[in-house]
Amino acid sequence: MNFEMTVGLETHFELSTKSKIFCSCPNCFGGEANTKCCPVCLGLPGSLPVLNREVVEYAVKAGLALNCRVEEYSYMARKNYIYPDLPKAYQITQGDRPICHSGQLNLSDGSVIRINRLHIEEDAGKLIHKDGATFADYNRCGVPLVEIVTEPDFNSAEQVREYLEKLRLIMKTLGVSDCRMQEGSMRCDVNLSVKKREDKKPGEKIEIKNVNSFSFIAKAINYEYKRQCSLLERGERITAQTRRFNEATGETESMRDKEEGEDYRYFPEPDIPAVYISHEEIVKIKKTLPELPDAKYERYIEEYNLTADEAVQIIKYPAAVDYFERLIKLSGNAKLSAKLLVSNIFACVREELKRENGNFPNAEYIAEVVMLIERGKLKGGAVKTATQKITAENKPFKELFNITDFAGMSDEETAALADKAIAENQTAVRDYLAGKDRAIFAVVGKVMKESKGRADAEKVLEYVKKAINEVLRGK
Ligand code: ZN
Ligand code: MN
Repeated sequence: MNFEMTVGLETHFELSTKSKIFCSCPNCFGGEANTKCCPVCLGLPGSLPVLNREVVEYAVKAGLALNCRVEEYSYMARKNYIYPDLPKAYQITQGDRPICHSGQLNLSDGSVIRINRLHIEEDAGKLIHKDGATFADYNRCGVPLVEIVTEPDFNSAEQVREYLEKLRLIMKTLGVSDCRMQEGSMRCDVNLSVKKREDKKPGEKIEIKNVNSFSFIAKAINYEYKRQCSLLERGERITAQTRRFNEATGETESMRDKEEGEDYRYFPEPDIPAVYISHEEIVKIKKTLPELPDAKYERYIEEYNLTADEAVQIIKYPAAVDYFERLIKLSGNAKLSAKLLVSNIFACVREELKRENGNFPNAEYIAEVVMLIERGKLKGGAVKTATQKITAENKPFKELFNITDFAGMSDEETAALADKAIAENQTAVRDYLAGKDRAIFAVVGKVMKESKGRADAEKVLEYVKKAINEVLRGK
């Protein structure tokens, strides 16, 4: 049977504004429970919320970056529900008049993900379950959020993953959120449905809540797709449900059946006036937006002549982008800088990169290597040896090496090493003579290794070929 999956996403980002959304409490992660809240956070009677202007500006930045339409007037609303992490028994959010809507984000396969809306709202507190009891920590109450809702435009887990990676990169580039999934400052809910391709009616909607890593989201989607396909194949019905992903088993499990249209009794928030941002202010914010990843990608290829892969690899990590731009300034050679960064330095620091703090060697040291390569003083294996050591020890070239360490080998030295390698690798020589051309690289590789990268690979190849052919002629 032929099945079709559609997925839509709701992604929440905690904004990194200085203070919370409706009061002047500090907006920071963690801290001793209930030490970062006030009567407004706690929703005590008589307290009045005042909207933080910075939250509006951050939301507009994010909306513009996602090609949204930004409304000069939007409205806050109350979403009513009872849960112990929400002391007011309602969340202040936006209802039918969000600040941004109708945006889009493009994926590399050419598909366009439509952004239905981007709105601002407050976060709820946290429940801590321990020693058989449940405690409430209200520090997170009133932390500002943007929620970004897509249309059901995804057809695969890969598309979802790329969207989330791009979205996170945009938010980081804008500096509006630190996007840490482990700390909950980026959270994602997945809405998914599967139907037989020939069915006109869309499938029942399953929601998967708060999966906290990109690879778990992909796993949850793939698992859910397979589960629903096999139900449909057996002719069973799928019921609308909220499910959670079990990280240990890699499966999703039912949390609760969805009630028909949960009724949150949305109504306009009476304590907060309309959110207004003038056209002039929106234009001003637009002018201050940093270069976004897609534009950077185009520029790196056009202006610096990078390959698509080099551009993608660098742009993926904001720390690498800053580093790369510094390398260009110091060395004056973008292409070589990119090549060195992607093919050598990334291999040494990738883990730190993932931990987002960069941890690259001093850019001046690497710029110096770029200039040595440019002047033909460093080649082939020597480049790798030098960069690895400079990266590992974060010391300049001249403290670790003499340039003569990498001086090309004399012809005599090359010949001696090559003769030795030929003598010791007779199988490869016989294979080569039998017509397996590539066998010769086993011999060349041995010479390069023995010379610790000093030998010139082309010269070695030339010499080895000549030597072997002479043997052949001699016989
Ligand atoms: Zn407060
Ligand atoms: Mn929300």
